[in-house]
Amino acid sequence: NIPATGWNLDNSYARLPKKFFTKTAPEPARNSELILFNSDLAKSLGLDAQALNSEDGAKILAGTEVPDGAEPIAQAYAGHQFGNFTMLGDGRAVLLGEQITPEGQRFDIQLKGSGKTAYSRGGDGRAALGPMLREYIISEAMHGLGIPTSRSLAVATTGIPVVRETFLPGAVLTRVASSHLRFGTFQFAAQWGTFEELKALADYAINRHYPTAQDSENPYLELLKNVIAKQAQLVAKWQLAGFIHGVMNTDNMTISGETIDYGPCAFLDTYEPGRVFSSIDQYGRYAYSNQPKITGWNLARFAETLLPLLDKNQEQAIEMAQDLLGDFGNQFQKNWTAGMKAKLGLFGNEEGDDQLIDDLLKLMHDHKADYTNTFRTLTFDKLEEMPLAGKEGFEAWYAAWKSRLDEQTENAETSQELMRSSNPAVIPRNHRVEEAIDAAVSRQDYSLAEKLVAAVKNPYAHTNEQLEYTDAPPEDEERTYKTYCG
Ligand code: AMP
Ligand code: MG
Ligand code: MG
Repeated sequence: NIPATGWNLDNSYARLPKKFFTKTAPEPARNSELILFNSDLAKSLGLDAQALNSEDGAKILAGTEVPDGAEPIAQAYAGHQFGNFTMLGDGRAVLLGEQITPEGQRFDIQLKGSGKTAYSRGGDGRAALGPMLREYIISEAMHGLGIPTSRSLAVATTGIPVVRETFLPGAVLTRVASSHLRFGTFQFAAQWGTFEELKALADYAINRHYPTAQDSENPYLELLKNVIAKQAQLVAKWQLAGFIHGVMNTDNMTISGETIDYGPCAFLDTYEPGRVFSSIDQYGRYAYSNQPKITGWNLARFAETLLPLLDKNQEQAIEMAQDLLGDFGNQFQKNWTAGMKAKLGLFGNEEGDDQLIDDLLKLMHDHKADYTNTFRTLTFDKLEEMPLAGKEGFEAWYAAWKSRLDEQTENAETSQELMRSSNPAVIPRNHRVEEAIDAAVSRQDYSLAEKLVAAVKNPYAHTNEQLEYTDAPPEDEERTYKTYCG
């Protein structure tokens, strides 16, 4: 018997038409150990962090026991994977239910890596410890950066080895998200559902994420408008932080506008817009610089699914959707420019601002300057550490930037404050993430992962402890680094 740990689960998704899910219990672990546990997140969910951070808690967080009130299901969805449409679904995850927080907010609690489901196809339904640690570290870093994202409550080992190229320790990640409604969930409904089923899904999404759309003249058009706005904000934040998602398939894009599905993702080190890390992204479809365009493409796929709901007249519906989609590029650009200005401490709008931004990016590109460190050193005016120091063209750019700053009415302190809160001290650099995972997997030393999580948690704090993580990646690794799906 599991002691009361604050679970307050509802299962609204399981009240959708049957087509959208399959009842699936997680497969029990052999023996479970909590490797990482997110006490702050547990508390904010209304869970008893202390009680859950225990042997009994590990049983729940590894899938052996199901908490009170859970109705575990695997969700059905489809998606465009690298451009090809296919049926998918939770192949290695189950949704335990939706935790209602003391504040009345609703969060999906999902176990990832908890065994086979009806949607596993050829897969084993399992996850290896390394990639689950990676998702935990990076998702928590994203949250710290202020980027909407799924969160990670825990990583628990299962004691069940998983077969990849070798045998690896198996693990379960407990993922928390405001929902797992994906563009692909709508694609599934539009492709294989009835009109009524599609409508039920759309009404559910509106109710859960954009309740004010209900009062609009055309709630489904309002849903589309909201999702476009949220995604235009999200991808701007990715670009500003130098985050590369790596698998922007439509099944990995959320209706809520949260980042989900951390597989072969990575942060830019040197500023190279064409950068790809993912071993499976052969043609660079999901390269850093392509992310805004791909978001637009994905939004068009989402919009297509809504056409039957937008208007009885399909030509009319297409026109309505196109009008909204046509604004995505502007919205992205506006969000991104505003973010870039904040990174440079600029207030107001001056004629040469776009040029100033473009010129800096060009210098960074030409000299392969470290993206994060360039902005961090500008923030503190640490010219000796500046990756562009002494490089051709930098002095002139720096003078132009300084004179732009001098001309604004806000004082230097105010503008530095803006930069501090826009430029992280630390990002989870690839070699640091790998180092932490390696220590965990090969030596059962989890201290590096814990330390890294602590360092990335509040990246705008600029503490002395964080300085240890401000290093750029080693030169050789920088060229060859690849990320995998796990
Ligand atoms: P992803 O690339 O992570 O978005 O996953 C694409 C699809 O593959 C999803 O339907 C996953 O649930 C499924 N999948 C990934 N890994 C496994 C696995 N080990 N076993 C079963 N299904 C998997
Ligand atoms: Mg996925
Ligand atoms: Mg995945």
